Amino acid sequence: MGGIIVVWLIGLMVFFFILHSVIRSAIDSSKLAANIREIRDFLQGQSAASSAPPGPEKPGETCPGCGSKVRQEDKYCSECSLKLQG
Ligand SMILES: [Zn+2]
Repeated sequence: MGGIIVVWLIGLMVFFFILHSVIRSAIDSSKLAANIREIRDFLQGQSAASSAPPGPEKPGETCPGCGSKVRQEDKYCSECSLKLQG
């Protein structure tokens, strides 16, 4: 009859060990997710602060053939009649 109690104790120990490890891994993963979110917010704030630099020219505003200024809605360059993108 004593063997059953030993088996129960071992089973309980294994059960609590598994439960403990599962709970700890869940807490760790939630902490990790929170850290990742913090890092992502930090990086997004950095990129938002440094994004949209005051570049004078966007791509598509200069003719790749002759370098003259063209409008983005123009299909052909007014200087060299090169077909523009779009
Ligand atoms: Zn041109």
